[in-house]
Amino acid sequence: LFKGGAALETFGKTNIMAFDKTGTLTEGKMRVTDVVVFDGNENELLTKLAALEQHSEHPIAQSVVREANQRGLRLLEAEATQAIPGQGLQGFVEGQLLWAGNRKLAEAKGVTLGSQTRVTLEQLEHEGKTILLIGSDKVLGVVGMADTVRTTAKQTLERLRQQGVQKFVMLTGDHEAIAKQIASQLDLDEVHANLLPEDKVEVVKRLREQGTLAYLGDGVNDAAALATAHDGVAMGTAGSDVALESADVALLSDDLGRLALAYALARKANRVIRQNLMFALGVLSLMVVLTLFWYLPLPLGVVGHEGGTLLVVANGLRLLWAVPKAKSSAAFK
Ligand code: ADP
Ligand code: MG
Repeated sequence: LFKGGAALETFGKTNIMAFDKTGTLTEGKMRVTDVVVFDGNENELLTKLAALEQHSEHPIAQSVVREANQRGLRLLEAEATQAIPGQGLQGFVEGQLLWAGNRKLAEAKGVTLGSQTRVTLEQLEHEGKTILLIGSDKVLGVVGMADTVRTTAKQTLERLRQQGVQKFVMLTGDHEAIAKQIASQLDLDEVHANLLPEDKVEVVKRLREQGTLAYLGDGVNDAAALATAHDGVAMGTAGSDVALESADVALLSDDLGRLALAYALARKANRVIRQNLMFALGVLSLMVVLTLFWYLPLPLGVVGHEGGTLLVVANGLRLLWAVPKAKSSAAFK
């Protein structure tokens, strides 16, 4: 879905693409792989965590709730829950103020990490897992979760590169180790990790200066970045409503491959616009010259003028066939 002609034209000129990680380059359907408890037992910890996370729409949160359900845990109610964008969230569970999120959040809460916690975190980060600390005045436990890079991601980026995108950048609020791992898997040119939503906007502003920039995200925590790029592209069904609203282009299916298709169409549309401008100006100039310096019978002038318009329209209509043709071509399967 292109929100107007300007969005389409800009998208066709894009030479830098920036991506959010979770839910965009990765599936965003994380599996809880590790639960390390420092106080109490696993299920107790997950029950409290799920109580908080059921109020969040972040992919991390959904995974936690799914895990709790799979373990057959009865969800508690959390009160006064509050999202801390790019870091996690907090709320009251059974009267106790709890928070859950990344290292940044732990720091912000003034909690010092014991050596056992630090070792656990480093181990999980090294394995390329997203980590989640849960705590109150101290860390109660750590959860590690694994996400998978979308199967179509590598192919899509290669195709986009062939078509003219020169630079791929990943922006993530997650830690450096996981960012680097994905960057090497996908051959990205630049990665920025540990970003808060406002940091993402800053990076997007800098990238904007280097060319025509499209930012692709699911909008959970990156609606501002979507709005700041030349073209914001929202990711289909997984995306949030805010993303669909702040974006200029929306992929209506949860398939990253559609990005290359959209780009091919946008480029094609720009080519048709150029062809039509050149053709129309050519015909008009020719007729002006003929009329002034030689001879142009009136009927021929009418045919030239209106006929030219019809040809321009017909040339534009070719794009209608481009969509089904591209969809059925092997390149986008
Ligand atoms: P990204 O989409 O790149 O992961 P976000 O800004 O959405 O970036 O999130 C950044 C980080 O903040 C996450 O990696 C996670 O550590 C933490 N975070 C965000 N939301 C939650 C949540 N609901 N529960 C726990 N941690 C969260
Ligand atoms: Mg996100």
